[in-house]
Amino acid sequence: MRAYFRLFQFIKPHLGVFGVAVLCMVGSTILNGVQVGAFIPLIDRVANDRALPTLAWFPGWLNGLILWFNSLPQRTLVNLFAVAIPVLFLFKSLLEFLQTFFMSDASQRVVRDLRQKMFDKFTALSLDYHHRQPTGSTMSRIMYDTGIVQNSLIEGLTDLVYQPFQIVIYLAIVLRINWALALMTFVVIPLIALITLWIGRLLKKYSRQAQVVMGQLHSTILESITGIQVIQAFQMERDARVKFASMNERSYRIHRKIQKRMNLLTPMTDFLGAVGASFVFWYGCRQVLEGSMTLGTFTAFFAAMMFLIRPFKRLAKLHSVNQQTIAAATRIFEILDVEPTIMEHPKAKTLPMFRREITYDKVSFQYDNQPVLRGVSLTIPRAEIIALVGPSGGGKTTLANLLPRFFDPTSGRVLLDGVDLRHVTLSSLRGQIGLVTQETTLFNDTVRANLAVGNPSASLSDMVEAAKVANAHAFISRMPKGYDTVVGERGSLLSGGERQRLSIARAMLKNPPILILDEATSQLDAESERLITEALERVCQERTVVLIAHRLSTVRLAHRIVVIQEGRIVEQGSHEELLKTSALYRRFCELQLMHPMAKLGEPHHVPRDL
Ligand code: ADP
Ligand code: MG
Repeated sequence: MRAYFRLFQFIKPHLGVFGVAVLCMVGSTILNGVQVGAFIPLIDRVANDRALPTLAWFPGWLNGLILWFNSLPQRTLVNLFAVAIPVLFLFKSLLEFLQTFFMSDASQRVVRDLRQKMFDKFTALSLDYHHRQPTGSTMSRIMYDTGIVQNSLIEGLTDLVYQPFQIVIYLAIVLRINWALALMTFVVIPLIALITLWIGRLLKKYSRQAQVVMGQLHSTILESITGIQVIQAFQMERDARVKFASMNERSYRIHRKIQKRMNLLTPMTDFLGAVGASFVFWYGCRQVLEGSMTLGTFTAFFAAMMFLIRPFKRLAKLHSVNQQTIAAATRIFEILDVEPTIMEHPKAKTLPMFRREITYDKVSFQYDNQPVLRGVSLTIPRAEIIALVGPSGGGKTTLANLLPRFFDPTSGRVLLDGVDLRHVTLSSLRGQIGLVTQETTLFNDTVRANLAVGNPSASLSDMVEAAKVANAHAFISRMPKGYDTVVGERGSLLSGGERQRLSIARAMLKNPPILILDEATSQLDAESERLITEALERVCQERTVVLIAHRLSTVRLAHRIVVIQEGRIVEQGSHEELLKTSALYRRFCELQLMHPMAKLGEPHHVPRDL
């Protein structure tokens, strides 16, 4: 329930729009009340020609109106009503239109803000969150859960204000006309409430299940789309379809359950409404026949009673819709409340330009109690190129990821020029680090836009220069639109080697003093390898480089080689030194000579990617 009220925080900035909608609502309800009240003069005076009574509690103008009304001939009155009724309806419809419009607008605004806020949060959350959370569940929270909130906000907000207001108006009318009869009819209200609470509880439960299934559905779709090539190569289409079908079926079943409960509510409350109405009819008709109530008064009473039941029914429906909203809002706020694990210290300082050295000081790290780094100490002086080699899974990528502070060490410290990374601002730290990762992340945009990620203010000639350094200019120029060619999602229209050279060019444009290169493990042909090695050689000059190397050709660029195995530094030294001292390194080199593309830790050289 708290989640529901927190949603109202999001309405606050749009209270103006909401207020206008409520005003229109109030106006249309009053006109509705006038319409109901008009039954009395219409039937008693116009149809039956009885003088309407003036009443002591009526305001003076109303009594004046009644007297004037009584003085007019019936025929004039018929004409008067013929004109008044459409005019009344016109105004009422106009107000209703405006009310719906502004109400929807307010809810659209709220959902827009919610989505933005969630997206902002996702971009701020640290890598550990994203590694744990399936992409599909993230998608479904932003799209599906906010969608539920939106649907119910339109109905919910309207009803929450409108229905109680209607209840007050019609309640006043029926109590005024005949309070005893009114009270007798109200016994059905607790019954409606009971049914509503029962159905609401069920809906909340199913709604949660629906959200989980929606998340799984989104995950399956994303996974299959991104892995479509592997699915087709391994002929897994059938499995993928079966998996999707079973989840799709579950989603259908849960939504059917929800619909069934929702739609059960209306007939049940309708039935109770009819019971109340027939009682009023029976009792009221007898009073009219006995002459203790006029037909006009009875009709007005009956109409008001009908109008009174409707808001109760709407409130009952609102309650069940709200149960779904609460479930969705809970999941939304769960996300908004996650604190990123990597937080900037409130007193974080700007890191000065990197000058001396990077230091890993007895750094240990674990993912969920799984130790990955065990007490690594390493100093990398400025302008040194250091190569990390070793069996896959040894912790090389993790070690490099600590430098831009994607994670914090579980124990120990990482220092830049003697300053603990946890004490500096993320922007001043990450601004000094260039990153070329194994999975070259390109966006579905032009070459130029992908390069601009490195430096948004770079000119085209800067880009060409960077691309030349990265050996990318030649292939970019060959593409149909050159630098304005769109590279496809994740750069799918480029070859592996081209993707990598493009991301090297991107890092070049940023021109950072520190560079992390996680060499791609994908099989590159000899020509691509030569182009990349050449590019790396140029890129690494005058820079401090952490190079995670899988190929001898790139290892050779390094001043110092560090062998990492099972989270520890087991050897370090130059190529020649290590050839003498390290059996592990010797094996790495031998494998490379036999199979130039083999990687340490994969002695049987099985191509990983098809
Ligand atoms: P390398 O780069 O040397 O191949 P990594 O640093 O990528 O090694 O991985 C080291 C170990 O940490 C591996 O055993 C891997 O399974 C584990 N690991 C890597 N990333 C995660 C993660 N996000 N969550 C849990 N374990 C991880
Ligand atoms: Mg790695």
